[in-house]
Amino acid sequence: MSKIQSPRGCPDIFPEDVMKRHFIINSARVLARSYGFKEHETPIFEHSEVFAKNLGENTDIVSKEMYSFTDKGGEGFTLRPEATASMARLFISHKLFREIPYKVFYQGPMFRHERPQMGRQRQFTQIGVENLGLRDPKIDAETIELGYRLLMHLNPDQKWQVQINCIGTNEDRESYKKVLVEFLQARAAELSEESQKRLLTNPLRILDSKSESDQQILNQAPSIEDFINPTSQKEFSEIKTLLEVLNVPFKVNTRLVRGLDYYNDTVFEIINTSLGAQNAVVAGGRYDTLIKNMGGPDCPSFGWAAGVERLSLLTTTPEQHYPKIGVVDMDHSDDKYLMQVTKALRDLDSSFTSHSPTTDLSLKDEALVQNETIEIFWSSTGNFSKQMKKCEAHGCQFVIIYGPNEIQKNAVQIKNMGTGEQVESNLSKLNKFSFKWV
Ligand code: ATP
Ligand code: MG
Repeated sequence: MSKIQSPRGCPDIFPEDVMKRHFIINSARVLARSYGFKEHETPIFEHSEVFAKNLGENTDIVSKEMYSFTDKGGEGFTLRPEATASMARLFISHKLFREIPYKVFYQGPMFRHERPQMGRQRQFTQIGVENLGLRDPKIDAETIELGYRLLMHLNPDQKWQVQINCIGTNEDRESYKKVLVEFLQARAAELSEESQKRLLTNPLRILDSKSESDQQILNQAPSIEDFINPTSQKEFSEIKTLLEVLNVPFKVNTRLVRGLDYYNDTVFEIINTSLGAQNAVVAGGRYDTLIKNMGGPDCPSFGWAAGVERLSLLTTTPEQHYPKIGVVDMDHSDDKYLMQVTKALRDLDSSFTSHSPTTDLSLKDEALVQNETIEIFWSSTGNFSKQMKKCEAHGCQFVIIYGPNEIQKNAVQIKNMGTGEQVESNLSKLNKFSFKWV
């Protein structure tokens, strides 16, 4: 019998990782909101032309990575491989251009048929922002800074590197392309197979070839810098100044081109070299013509997307702030009281964030309930001192103890295992007790 498995490149996600992903997505959501972005959700599939027409027919995505299908009504759809085109579609469908500048945050699954490897999946999750309606160096700088700030929040100890480039207008790129192709054609035989193909289909992508020998050849190639029109050049230098003002360290990489056709002028990536080949975690840029080309009004825009799986590899979740609490029922008698104690423990934190403690008394002997933030150990067998020893062995910083006396008074004893101190507390006052354990 063949193994039962999820589709290739579409891993199942386990609780610890789910928590980390929530932390990443929620941090991004809250941070983006603080810059004025509003969250939208769009369907995970769109009419195929939303992507096929707008990302560029020679891009990797459109030429080989899309999950496209015809539905029972005979219509052609595609699982979204990225969300910028979806957001542009949303913007036009709902005439949001009446409200420009319009700032969108999104998160959700994307689908690309590529070769799965570390940091590269077929179903993956992106978070992203789109700043729609303005062409202004302040927008470029501020939106890049948002990406950098998010990474610093997720892990300030990692070395994040912001790389930026200016790829000018379509015309600038066309003139550069001619000169680049001429240069590379003369050395075509030395290029990698992939780059030889790209020479015919998408020559600018050769600039980001992963092949060492291609890169050596490119060292002598003409640079896009010399083909940029004066307006774009001026704006690019303003953007660099503003990034300095915002304290975002960056590097200009004149070979950074990005894989999609809709970009112009500023493009950027934030990379982390510890990821190996899949090193870009945030990527984006300016797209001033996409919305117009899709049938909307003139609407210069800027956005980026980040891969949650890659971020997850580089994120450390915050420290746990709750102690481990043991519960000792001296008489093992009163299930009703146990439920009340459990309820009171749950009332200790009613913020219901993803960091709220978990209280879970699984009704088995020697139930040890482990979770992200708090651990409750409850022992229902053995005499009092045996139960206390178990709590100690499980590293409980506090033990909540009750017997008939306490039950009668609707109280519990709280023992601090570190100091040996013990106090009585009414159950309804349990949340006034400070469970400080260090
Ligand atoms: P790469 O060069 O790594 O293929 P890309 O240029 O295709 O990236 P974008 O389309 O700009 O990437 O997507 C933005 C971000 O989404 C990437 O920087 C990455 O973090 C993430 N991402 C893209 N493709 C995948 C994938 N197949 N699996 C996981 N994450 C991905
Ligand atoms: Mg890709």
